[in-house]
Amino acid sequence: MSGTAGGDAGAVDDATSNPMRAPSARTLAELDGLVVGCRACPRLVAWREHVAEVKRAAFRDETYWGRPVPGFGDPRADVLVVGLAPAAHGANRTGRMFTGDRSGDFLFASMHRTGFASQALSVRADDGLTLDGIRVTAPVRCAPPENAPTPQERRTCGPFLARELALVEPRVVVVLGGFGWQAVLATLAEQGWAVPRPRPAFAHGAEVRLRRVDGDGELALVGCFHVSQQNTFTGRLTPAMLDAVLVRARALASGAG
Ligand code: SF4
Repeated sequence: MSGTAGGDAGAVDDATSNPMRAPSARTLAELDGLVVGCRACPRLVAWREHVAEVKRAAFRDETYWGRPVPGFGDPRADVLVVGLAPAAHGANRTGRMFTGDRSGDFLFASMHRTGFASQALSVRADDGLTLDGIRVTAPVRCAPPENAPTPQERRTCGPFLARELALVEPRVVVVLGGFGWQAVLATLAEQGWAVPRPRPAFAHGAEVRLRRVDGDGELALVGCFHVSQQNTFTGRLTPAMLDAVLVRARALASGAG
């Protein structure tokens, strides 16, 4: 897999079981190790590595990450921001969630304005950005073709998000976009959370309270239009709208609401 930052062909068989091993991860570092070495979804492994090999012309001199992308940010965050999956030439290139594309520029600028991020700039994994009180992750950790993971791929990857939730214990999850909303609700339902039926509909600003089936955990879900260029260039999602969602998430996390 020349052209990518990693390469562990000898671990192929073992790495297909990484999601099943996620519940045993005792720390985020252990979990991240399982995530970045995962090869459980053949279609996504092939795509992420193909993109990393072919590259986009603007990045032809860069070494793409080309692997699954772990969560990024505060390990004890009260607010978890969840998208759908890494972008092919964003996080799949830089190795850090929402880093290296316009979506991330929009998101981290808002986090900086609302006091969650140390800087608005997010261009590569070593750019110095740190997050306080917030973390970003996804229910699917590999860049999918057409930004569309299959239901099976989402199910296969689910244990990683479930374990991240258990280790971080956020109070609020901000879900970006309707696809992510459905994916997160489905993942939570499969991973031991009591999700109402019919499932709550996505809307910008929608709020839903969830509990674990075993009663050991509680979450507030907040919907937000995705930070894609399709939304931000057209004004469907403005900086003020995203700032308001993050301010609301902070208030919910502090018990207001
Ligand atoms: S999407 Fe998730 S489960 Fe599938 S290969 Fe990537 S990290 Fe593994």
